[in-house]
Amino acid sequence: MAELTDAELARYARQLILPEVDLEGQARLKRGRVLIIGAGGLGTPIAQYLAGAGVGGIRIADNDHIELSNLPRQLAYTEQDVGQFKADVLGRRLADGNSGLAVDARVIRFDIGSAPTLLEDIDLVLDATDSLQARLDIDRTTFTAGLPWVMGAAVRTSGQWAAFDGRREQGCYHCLVADADQVQRAGCAELGILGPVVGLVALQQSVLALKYLLGASVPWGQLRVLDAWSGEHHDITIGARKNCSMCQNQH
Ligand SMILES: [Zn+2]
Repeated sequence: MAELTDAELARYARQLILPEVDLEGQARLKRGRVLIIGAGGLGTPIAQYLAGAGVGGIRIADNDHIELSNLPRQLAYTEQDVGQFKADVLGRRLADGNSGLAVDARVIRFDIGSAPTLLEDIDLVLDATDSLQARLDIDRTTFTAGLPWVMGAAVRTSGQWAAFDGRREQGCYHCLVADADQVQRAGCAELGILGPVVGLVALQQSVLALKYLLGASVPWGQLRVLDAWSGEHHDITIGARKNCSMCQNQH
């Protein structure tokens, strides 16, 4: 069991007093290993909050450069960072903020080919990609690896998020995509995005990740859709589809 140092006890004092966390939970977080795919509007807050909470191993995969149009919502980056690789800069920010973490920032695109290496020694995957195809690839490769993942998507003023268990007993992302009305296909570049909306989704994903790492119950296979402008939201139970191209032919 990963023991906590005096410095860690001081750093996480406000979190440790929560019964949901406690000393044992903080040690669990320290042992936790996550892969964050994408270091943009979703990936930067997810990485910062999970690092802040003391998740001991954080791997980041992203092959994009920082652009000026990223700065309104990717608040980990400054004007001086424009042109640099997101993974490199975010990795440095996390290490600067919490030197006790193992930060593994990789300038690489997640796809079927790179997945086996990126998923090695990982407990949970967080989707921060802004791409339907990437989510399908994450769903397939994590299913093969028996790993859970948390998806998130945001466009304009609305967002959605869901968690999928390693065995996909409560359905998979391919099950969801079969229900075409519920899926955001176009991304922020085409449709636009209000900065705090992507932050809202990222922080919901972060809470789900912490719950999983702490051993708390996670609402697997439940999609929440939120319109941040109106404040209205609704939940959809995904469920494993009998005709699913992925999970049903392997159960
Ligand atoms: Zn499925």
